[in-house]
Amino acid sequence: MNNLYPTKDTSKVILMTFLIGISIVGSSEPLNLAKSSIKVVVIDAGHGGRDAGCHGSAKIQEKEVALDIALKLGKLIETNLKDVKVIYTRKDDRFIELWQRAAIANRNKADLFISVHCNAHTNPNLHGAETYVMGLHKSEGNLDVSKRENGSVYLEGNYDKSGRYSDFDPNSPEAHIILSLYQNAFLEHSIDIASEIQNNVRSKGKVRDLGVNQAGFLVLWKTTMPSLLVETGYLTNPTNEKYLTSESGKNESASNIFEAVKKFKQKLEAKK
Ligand SMILES: [Zn+2]
Repeated sequence: MNNLYPTKDTSKVILMTFLIGISIVGSSEPLNLAKSSIKVVVIDAGHGGRDAGCHGSAKIQEKEVALDIALKLGKLIETNLKDVKVIYTRKDDRFIELWQRAAIANRNKADLFISVHCNAHTNPNLHGAETYVMGLHKSEGNLDVSKRENGSVYLEGNYDKSGRYSDFDPNSPEAHIILSLYQNAFLEHSIDIASEIQNNVRSKGKVRDLGVNQAGFLVLWKTTMPSLLVETGYLTNPTNEKYLTSESGKNESASNIFEAVKKFKQKLEAKK
């Protein structure tokens, strides 16, 4: 992970603070912090193509489960929230670099970015669903999840030479600044939606609710809107795997996210 955790110096921190400050203050398209509704949702099916993600005992891989749930979620939004435009980072089995996923959301001025994943662990007894928001990891477990998900960059041919991730280190001084200026602005909304997803998981009772957590995910790193990464369950746990590879489980996982988006949208609109 050397290239993702470079050494930094104070002058660079000051320069970055200045540049980020200028980009926010001077931008012709300022960050839309005071959202009054949800009009564009970018749904990101994790992994794809040569990046299969994790898997359990069955042949079904994370990239397939994530895509199925992402498409189901998009369909629910398109059918039930007609005024919301859904944009997918991928609708088929293709490789997309992590930075591109965030760039798609930023370029389309999305009001919400949702990345869908499945979890994995060497201990098959670990099970449950959790939703992550961008932030500093508070436990080694959270760090492990972000490291595994961030590992997709190693499948990007020239990730270390591209410089696209050179400023990524969630626990560096620069990261604190970026987080406070960018993602923290959206953190409250991100946590709000994440909590609602987990409430839905808990109320259905099929998958254990592991709560809302924070960790440094590359895919959420530079998104300029509320953003979430949903770990829908552990493919390495037989019960979770059975659930996530079944139609009913995938439908329910999509519905848990959809209901949270719908509720959040209604809440924003009620404030108008
Ligand atoms: Zn994943």
